[in-house]
Amino acid sequence: VARGHSGSTLLTSLLARHPQAMAVGEMANLGLQLYRKTGARWVGLCSCGERPHDCPVWGPALAEVERRHSVDLDEKPFSWRMSDIGLEEEYRQSSIYRAPLVWIRNRYWRLFRYLQYGPFPFLGRISPQREWVRNRVELMKLVAESANARIVVDASKDPLDMRDLLEYADLPMKVVFLTRDARGNVWSEVKNSKQEAARKSGGIAAAENWVRVNGRILKLLEGYPGSDWTQLRYEDMCAEPKQTFEKLFDFLGLERADVTLPTLDPNANYKPEHTVGGNKIRFTSAGINIRPDTGWTKGLTDAECRRIADIVSPLDEKLGYRESV
Ligand SMILES: [Zn+2]
Repeated sequence: VARGHSGSTLLTSLLARHPQAMAVGEMANLGLQLYRKTGARWVGLCSCGERPHDCPVWGPALAEVERRHSVDLDEKPFSWRMSDIGLEEEYRQSSIYRAPLVWIRNRYWRLFRYLQYGPFPFLGRISPQREWVRNRVELMKLVAESANARIVVDASKDPLDMRDLLEYADLPMKVVFLTRDARGNVWSEVKNSKQEAARKSGGIAAAENWVRVNGRILKLLEGYPGSDWTQLRYEDMCAEPKQTFEKLFDFLGLERADVTLPTLDPNANYKPEHTVGGNKIRFTSAGINIRPDTGWTKGLTDAECRRIADIVSPLDEKLGYRESV
């Protein structure tokens, strides 16, 4: 779980190099990837280059789901759900006139879901997350079998998704809460804005969002023991990858393995990845660069850094970032 631009693609790719693990990408997006058929603007592909149904890992797992539940996921990708992603696509198909209740539910859906983990826990009983989690766990087991893996790394990132899984999954779940220094995180998000003004306002919005998202994640993890979740700082992962992953594998209950060898190293016998729904760099990640992206030190002015520091205080301290501000 993480805010976007925190380095989750790097983390996932490295975790997936463990001999017993496999990365599935952002599993919550699978329905949407199936929906984006050949001919769509962005065709939904597995990182092996195939459509999920044609992929040697996802194909058999999806076929088994279709057989067990009598669904056709190629024809109706949202008929068997694992998350709320794609509600808009579904909604466009059934307009407000035909389905006003669906419209209301979609409009207030996120709020409705947050309230379940806040003041109105009874809402959890009437919402479909349990079923989505059950479906996701079922498919996780099937792809793990298909890829001969013991551990599935799901990079879906959404805080609510994460809490649903902790709450309802009948599989051992471990949460890695990935954080990144707000300045680096903000810069990574806004650096592509061409105009200075857009960059500035974008930077402030991104810093405010850094507080909102990381704060929500912490809140949703409140009360769960340290054996269920751990915080990982992007900066530590880049500065001391070997030690960081040893600690991480200890937390995950896996044997230690060196996942940081360059791919050219003959000892680095990494398996191919089959990830759906995620960052596009996964298609070109033949070699992984573990060096930290420190572009913000040149890109942000001192005034911008101070502004960001003001916005993210005091949460930055709680997450272990104050000493570097
Ligand atoms: Zn594949």
